Amino acid sequence: MEAAAASEDCCVKVAVHVRPLIGDEKLQGCKDCVAVTPGKPQVQIGTHSFTFDHVYGSTGSPSSSMFEECIVPLVDGLFQGYNATVLAYGQTGSGKTYTMGTGFKDGCQTGLIPQVMNALFAKIESLKHQIEFQLHVSFIEILKEEVRDLLVSTPLNKSDTTSPNAGKVHVPGKPPIQIRESSNGVITLAGSTEVSVSALKEMAACLEQGSLSRATGSTNMNNQSSRSHAIFTITLEQMRKLNPISGDGSPNDIMSEEYLCAKLHLVDLAGSERAKRTGSDGMRFKEGVHINKGLLALGNVISALGDEKKRKEGAHVPYRDSKLTRLLQDSLGGNSRTVMIACISPADINAEETLNTLKYANRARNIQNKPVVNRDPMSNEMLKMRQQLEYLQAELCARGGSDEVQVLKERIAWLEAANEDLFQELQEFRSRCTIVDNRETDAQESSPCSIKSDGLKRNLQSIEPSDYHMGETMIAGDSIEIDDTAAKEWEHTLLQNTMDKELHELNRRLEDKESEMKLFGGDTVALKHHFGKKIQELEDEKRAVQQERDRLLAEIENLSAGSDGQKQKVQDIHAQKLKYLEARILELKKKQENQVQLLRQKQKSDEAAKRLQDEIQFIKSQKVQLQHRIKQEAEQFRQWKASREKELLQLRKEGRRNEYERHKLQALNQRQKMVLQRKTEEAAMATKRLKELLEARKSSVRDNSTIANGNGTNGQTNEKALQRWLNHELEVMVNVHEVRFEYEKQSQVRAALAEELAVLKQVDEFASKGLSPPRGKNGFSRYLILHVTECKNCQNIFT
Ligand code: ADP
Ligand code: MG
Repeated sequence: MEAAAASEDCCVKVAVHVRPLIGDEKLQGCKDCVAVTPGKPQVQIGTHSFTFDHVYGSTGSPSSSMFEECIVPLVDGLFQGYNATVLAYGQTGSGKTYTMGTGFKDGCQTGLIPQVMNALFAKIESLKHQIEFQLHVSFIEILKEEVRDLLVSTPLNKSDTTSPNAGKVHVPGKPPIQIRESSNGVITLAGSTEVSVSALKEMAACLEQGSLSRATGSTNMNNQSSRSHAIFTITLEQMRKLNPISGDGSPNDIMSEEYLCAKLHLVDLAGSERAKRTGSDGMRFKEGVHINKGLLALGNVISALGDEKKRKEGAHVPYRDSKLTRLLQDSLGGNSRTVMIACISPADINAEETLNTLKYANRARNIQNKPVVNRDPMSNEMLKMRQQLEYLQAELCARGGSDEVQVLKERIAWLEAANEDLFQELQEFRSRCTIVDNRETDAQESSPCSIKSDGLKRNLQSIEPSDYHMGETMIAGDSIEIDDTAAKEWEHTLLQNTMDKELHELNRRLEDKESEMKLFGGDTVALKHHFGKKIQELEDEKRAVQQERDRLLAEIENLSAGSDGQKQKVQDIHAQKLKYLEARILELKKKQENQVQLLRQKQKSDEAAKRLQDEIQFIKSQKVQLQHRIKQEAEQFRQWKASREKELLQLRKEGRRNEYERHKLQALNQRQKMVLQRKTEEAAMATKRLKELLEARKSSVRDNSTIANGNGTNGQTNEKALQRWLNHELEVMVNVHEVRFEYEKQSQVRAALAEELAVLKQVDEFASKGLSPPRGKNGFSRYLILHVTECKNCQNIFT
């Protein structure tokens, strides 16, 4: 449908309206200088001859048929969503206002606008049961590049209109009208009054009101109306109801369920003679340009658009040069069906202007427009939503609402399987746990160094410092290590097992999905193509049958025209055939619908296949991730094991070192004990000797007293004995002192050794916990070195 509309001839149509000589011209004795070839749309003026789409008036077609031939198609198009424009062009007094009907004084029935209104409402009346309509009108005037609203509710009063700047006067509180272009290139008038109308009377009132305010200007402003353009715009919005059943089966009615919006511009242009005159008159050029910039720009636009060469070169079209051309951008070379009515006066005094008008009009014929159906953006949205709804409903029907349920069921099944697997795993763990527990109780009973199963920490705590035996600790440490490693190893295998299982599950799912994918079949494109072809074939067949029907109908008509009695039979046969054909058409239609349905289902299954493909992709990625994790875990375990072994080795070494140091210390202790014993013995000996000496002295004192009393020769011997005694005494004193000193030293060493022992115990504890004790440079305990040196010093003292 749209294609048909787009391919139709969409050049601007030009009709010439030749008015009769009017009173003034007759009075002046003017002659008719325009010749119209009867039966042909040809106008001759002097030596110039022009052919247009239509010529009305004079010896051409009667003016009354203008509406039927030129405007009715536009009105019909409006109902199909096509914009339209009617432009009346010509010099002042050539009959533009008369032709359009924008002048109130001309009455409501003669002009095109009143006829448009009549036709519009008649059509609306006939369609109102199928379609919802909304009508808006706006009426503006462009004067001196100012857009004036002719439908303002408070019309301009006399004082405003009579002022020389009447065109610039705006109604207070109302912002000036601005021309705006929306993002999709649609030109709108912001700020103009749009009156919603629902009846012919209302629309006529709008036309009347606007015409009056324009007419006032015209009479009071020194014929300035010839310089203003009046645009009466009718906006028709229609909401086509769902599935309208067409009465006549015309293609127009198939276009259903739509929201369309189309505009009809009815333009009464300013008098064209001004443009020409101001253009040639240097003095008045600027003023003329300013006053009637629009008409000049229109001329430029028409020549830019009308010149085929320029158009092909993509020359610039100066729409933006004036408000008029900007407003009529769509009407000239755009999205509109446009009719230009060139109004001319036949009087010889206007010959020059008439010729110019005809030249202009002739150029306008070359303008190519591109009318399209105007769907409201909201309507487009609605159309889309409706299509979506339809699609979803079809989908729901096809699925029976079960697709989602199916997916959920699958998911439940999968989860249940996973749950079962996990449960089995749990059972396995439990059984393993009991085995380990049993093993542990056995081990506890058989081994003197009891190792609890709870792990390393508790084992360490369970070793009493009091029964600290290096050898035993070594064994205990080993079994702790072994136990820990085993646990870790076990854990690792379990993890690997689980991940393997997971991998297996993923593989299984992948296989499932891939097999499901196969079900969808490989060659979807070919299938699609096949269906498309099938539909095409059906379409062709349907068309052929329709043609056959039409042919038969025509034949029947011919036959009935003949009205012979014997032909009745043939007619009956044809009628029967017609009936059959009609049935066949119906059948084909049904078939076609079925095919469309099938195609739709195909699309759905394609989508499902795509989803499946995505799922497969996802599972594959999961699989890769899992494999990566397994690898990572194995690597981590390997590293952990290596480091653990290293640590174990270190601990063993340290244990051996500790033992060696202990032995050394023991030996040292032994030696010190021996020294102490020796010294104690020596001290005892010395004490004994001292006692002996004291005894000896006592006796010698007794001897001396007797000797001193008796004889003097004994005096010398006494002196010597005393000296000996004194010496001995001195020696004893020294010895006692030495022993005491030694004793003190010895007790100091003892204390040091006790401290060292404590330190060693601590070191050992660290070692057995798997921690390395604080170390010196050469690996020996800092304390140990200190004390061993101290002990060496002691030894030096003793020896
Ligand atoms: P314009 O709007 O082009 O300046 P008008 O429409 O005002 O011209 O017409 C000027 C005069 O000519 C008016 O008096 C009008 O009645 C008269 N006139 C125009 N066209 C016709 C026609 N086709 N038949 C009879 N009179 C006409
Ligand atoms: Mg006029």
